[in-house]
Amino acid sequence: MSVTQRIESIYAQILQRNPGETEFHQAVREVLDTLDPVLAKRPELAEAKIIERVSEPERQLIFRVPWSDDSGEVHINRGFRVEFNSALGPYKGGLRFHPSVTLGIVKFLGFEQIFKNALTGMPIGGGKGGSDFDPKNRSDAEIMRFCQSFMTELYRHLGEYTDVPAGDIGVGGREIGYLFGQYKRITNRYESGVLTGKGLGWGGAQARTEATGYGCVLFTAEMLRTRGEDLDGQRVVVSGSGNVAIYAIEKAQQLGATVVTCSDSTGYVVDEKGIDLELLKQIKEVERGRVSDYAERRGAGAHFVTGTGVWEVPCDVALPCATQNELNGADAATLVEHGVKAVAEGANMPTTPEGVRILQGAGVLYGPGKAANAGGVATSALEMQQNASRDSWTFAHTEERLAQIMGHIHRSCHETAERYGRPGNYVVGANIAGFELVAEAMVAQGLI
Ligand code: NDP
Repeated sequence: MSVTQRIESIYAQILQRNPGETEFHQAVREVLDTLDPVLAKRPELAEAKIIERVSEPERQLIFRVPWSDDSGEVHINRGFRVEFNSALGPYKGGLRFHPSVTLGIVKFLGFEQIFKNALTGMPIGGGKGGSDFDPKNRSDAEIMRFCQSFMTELYRHLGEYTDVPAGDIGVGGREIGYLFGQYKRITNRYESGVLTGKGLGWGGAQARTEATGYGCVLFTAEMLRTRGEDLDGQRVVVSGSGNVAIYAIEKAQQLGATVVTCSDSTGYVVDEKGIDLELLKQIKEVERGRVSDYAERRGAGAHFVTGTGVWEVPCDVALPCATQNELNGADAATLVEHGVKAVAEGANMPTTPEGVRILQGAGVLYGPGKAANAGGVATSALEMQQNASRDSWTFAHTEERLAQIMGHIHRSCHETAERYGRPGNYVVGANIAGFELVAEAMVAQGLI
């Protein structure tokens, strides 16, 4: 059987054994499509069935999360934690609270996380979790009761050397606080390293909140540098208005770019003067409002547009920072038509496979999420490091480490792509560089 046939047969088995999990299929397909040359060069990895093993989670947990709302009505949600791969360290990856969460979504995120975490060069394995709970319009008390119920089941699977969750969509500092409190109460252990994204006064790391967005922009700057450019004076379109989007906007502005958009699931804002970040933070982080409120309060020059058309706004650089499959083939074609130079993914898998093909075909610098947004998890690993040594670093020191790590990830993707004869292809570079590290460790650790 040729290498290509072998990979096709593995993929067919994955489709058959994981029916209906379309996002998981998409994430696996994207990685498998780049692995031919590795298996051709390293037949021992095929022999050890590394691809088959790496695409099967080590453990999948699904549990009931009962809670009652402020009026006393009982609700039942579903909780998930997929402990995907621990070859390089304890399972590490965020928790997502969003009504769209299913096992397939958690598996796609967990699978991506394996290679992303490997790319950081830090000792962390891959995992992901969450719930179909919708935190929108819920009171703080409801959020707290939900988090307590969720952790009452999940705590037995966690530990600083076992599995270390963090935030993702719908899970920020507030939720991590409630989750940590319940873990501490049940276990009677102040185990700081069991969750990351904690508050600064109780074990959190400086720059963790900023890290994913900042890292994504630093990665973009590295990509632009390969063509002799930087972010100064570039016009940037950002989607989303959550944790990743806000700090991508902040770093892009610090580096001299003008960011003209942000969005949420109802629509997007165009602000030709450049996003007023203080106003956006006030509305999103303090008041938990919508981007339409931003347009209203910002006044002349900014307007709100209903729907998903943010990619129609002409730009030099596009940063999708909201959710999976938010940038499709038609969107990519529009971006190319408008002369986009670089697209870097703050979100996980925001570009559809057709979108990726179009961007790469047009020679656009394209940074896949597992490389471009790895700054968040890398800084989580720095938080674990500080927790383990009972230390806390300054913002400047942590940010410097983040910049070094993003530089390392960029170099490693770039050099790997060149080594495998696909210069400039960050998808090939990220997948192969991450896969090789995980595969080496799996082979060394035997058939487990
Ligand atoms: P937040 O919950 O803080 O913000 C999510 C943003 O995306 C909101 O603006 C939200 O709008 C929008 N959004 C979510 N779902 C949809 C949807 N179905 N359609 C349109 N817009 C949507 O999440 P984060 O900023 O933390 O996460 C954003 C992305 O970044 C995700 O893909 C996540 O996996 C990825 N990521 C996050 C990391 C982190 O450190 N937080 C690390 C690495 C990747 P609305 O409020 O209307 O739902």
